[in-house]
Amino acid sequence: MLQQTQIATALPYYERWMRRFPTVQALADADIQEAMSLWQGLGYYRRCRMLKEGAEKVAAEGTPKSRDEWRKIPGVGDYTAAAIASICYGEPSSVVDGNVERVYARLTCDPATGSALKSNAWKWADRHLYTPEPGEWNQAVMELGATVCKPNQPLCRECPIHESCVAFQTNRVDEFPTPKPRAKTVHIEEEIWILQVEERIAVASHHTFDWWKDLRLLPISRPDRPLELGLWGESLGVISYTVTHHRVTALVNFARLDQEIDGFEWIERNNIGEVPLPAPHRKALALLYKT
Ligand code: SF4
Repeated sequence: MLQQTQIATALPYYERWMRRFPTVQALADADIQEAMSLWQGLGYYRRCRMLKEGAEKVAAEGTPKSRDEWRKIPGVGDYTAAAIASICYGEPSSVVDGNVERVYARLTCDPATGSALKSNAWKWADRHLYTPEPGEWNQAVMELGATVCKPNQPLCRECPIHESCVAFQTNRVDEFPTPKPRAKTVHIEEEIWILQVEERIAVASHHTFDWWKDLRLLPISRPDRPLELGLWGESLGVISYTVTHHRVTALVNFARLDQEIDGFEWIERNNIGEVPLPAPHRKALALLYKT
């Protein structure tokens, strides 16, 4: 939950999640849609799907005991596997997160960015790992990055390694890590359709939009993937949202129909709150409920 998300934001989600899924087995046995509902609003839904798949594998095969075994669990990458192995089992595995990358880049004035920087930082961390206490060491380096070698205004004079830090010694701390080139913003226009038959709302459960895999969506129409409904809708307003480097402007339309159309799931309006929908689609529904 804390990947790309601050603790204060994730905490209420975490507490609700742990009340519902207090054990790995409870999560493994749950329905993915229920897990998605609890995750709703936190974003980056792939984390939820991976956590569920990981729980299923651990429940079926037992808890891994080494970095290599942890690496086989869905959703567990190099960082998590090494952190668990070194901190929980004392395995001599180095750990590199964003904090360690920053310390490394400044300490050595490495101009690399992205995956090259990550790879260089792992090699550096492997060479310097203090093997008698790998878990303590890894946490110390991460903590140094988080609290001293901070992204902005690092506390270099208090830093225990400033004498060997090339960036500090050459007065170039501000240059590292080298900023990544930003992805160009892509503007997209779409229509979000709220289709209602009696008190039921149409939801697409199988869709071809990759951003929100496993969530349900209100029907969407885009110029490159038009929804050919042949309907005349009432416009409820316009919403804007951002996903990765996409800036989307969505016209929200409402249409009341005489009968259900095939290809959608029809959810009772009173139950729509239980359906895992992405935040922009909740915003679209809020436009209807305001009218
Ligand atoms: S001296 Fe400054 S830039 Fe260098 S590692 Fe320490 S805090 Fe980071």
